[in-house]
Amino acid sequence: MPSIFSKIVSGEIPSYKVAEDDRFLAFLDINPLAKGHTLVIPKKETDYIFDIEDDEYKELFLFAKKVAKSIGKCIQCERVGVAVIGLEVAHAHIHLIPINGIYDIDFSKPKLKLSQEEFQMIAQRIASKIE
Ligand code: AMP
Repeated sequence: MPSIFSKIVSGEIPSYKVAEDDRFLAFLDINPLAKGHTLVIPKKETDYIFDIEDDEYKELFLFAKKVAKSIGKCIQCERVGVAVIGLEVAHAHIHLIPINGIYDIDFSKPKLKLSQEEFQMIAQRIASKIE
């Protein structure tokens, strides 16, 4: 059965996309720790990130770097934090989270509730800065 993220890739489930190419996709986390919290995934489904083949692994992180630069340009933050958890969704993904301190990347914190319009606006802003 395809993962929920594969269903996002196929368009079966909607998402707030910020960047995409033939192999990778970045979209907003639906339960964000901060405005601009983004997930970067390989379109090819692999559960554990360290099982991804070397070339694809490198390209995934290069794609995430591009997305992180865009987030940094349009979301006020000290820097963009990076985390890989993977306990909830068994499809490898990188969390990119705008942070100003260590507590901003604490996954046990309550998540933000954003409106559809806010998600759309944030996704558009990040997408517009992708180079
Ligand atoms: P983890 O697997 O522990 O890294 O957590 C999975 C992350 O995916 C969580 O932060 C969820 O909020 C996020 N998530 C789950 N379903 C969706 C979805 N349909 N769209 C966007 N983000 C999602």
